Amino acid sequence: MKRILILFLLPIVLCATSYVNAQVEFKLQQLSTHLHVLYGQGGNIAISVGKDGIYLVDDQFAKLSDDIKAQVSKLQPGATEFVINTHHHGDHTGGNENFAKAGSHVIAHHNVYRRLKDKHGEGSQFLPVISFSKDMTLHFNGEHASIWHYANAHTDGDVVIFYEQANVVHTGDIFFNLSSLPFVDVDSGGSLDGVIAAVSSILERIDDKTKVIPGHGPVTNKSGLLEYKMLLEQAKKIMLVAIEKHTTLDAVVAAQPLAELKLSYSNWLPQERVTRLFYRSLTSSANSQE
Ligand SMILES: [Zn+2]
Repeated sequence: MKRILILFLLPIVLCATSYVNAQVEFKLQQLSTHLHVLYGQGGNIAISVGKDGIYLVDDQFAKLSDDIKAQVSKLQPGATEFVINTHHHGDHTGGNENFAKAGSHVIAHHNVYRRLKDKHGEGSQFLPVISFSKDMTLHFNGEHASIWHYANAHTDGDVVIFYEQANVVHTGDIFFNLSSLPFVDVDSGGSLDGVIAAVSSILERIDDKTKVIPGHGPVTNKSGLLEYKMLLEQAKKIMLVAIEKHTTLDAVVAAQPLAELKLSYSNWLPQERVTRLFYRSLTSSANSQE
């Protein structure tokens, strides 16, 4: 019995050890004179360096803050002045407290402030010190970075950053560039129609030379984002047909309508979860006019 228990526990212990020892591989990619993207673990980070200082878009997980700072200092020494959060999820805001302690000012939408306050409490250094409702512009490092709120897309607090001079856009998790379907956080005010509307709006604002930083996955361009939009629209169409035919959530899930797209899915976001989230989004009262 004891031996069986040990054999059973062994893989768990090994998993835990390899997780702790796992080295996160960081990769820096230059997009313009002042702008870089940092891939690590969690949401992609944009780094602006220049004569005014340093600012980031998103800061991944708390345990990575020192590594992220080390990566940033390869580009330019000094403290990070601002961190813009694209939304409230922990793989994009986990470093907020560490960066705030190091003197950074966190900027985010009001709904990100509200959700981080609910999670971490009033006065927490995870909270933005500057929050806004619709849009704002950061005039820094010779760049005018427009920070735009898109309502009810991936969440209810999404912002997209348009770097006009560099001709780069950071979409946050409105765009998962992983050749698959995205996470629509319907429990945090997200909706599939909102994601499609936001992607359409971003496409109207960019041109063929724009570099597109997604929330996850490699940097791409306008045609990459257009492909993603077409995939979302196709998935929506398939889901609407399935909802019409099978009616209930469980019956739609059992029918596996999205299987016809032949996509691959991550462990944390399998096809069934995507189906459930899309169903809930497409059948919620907010979408009843669709
Ligand atoms: Zn997210």
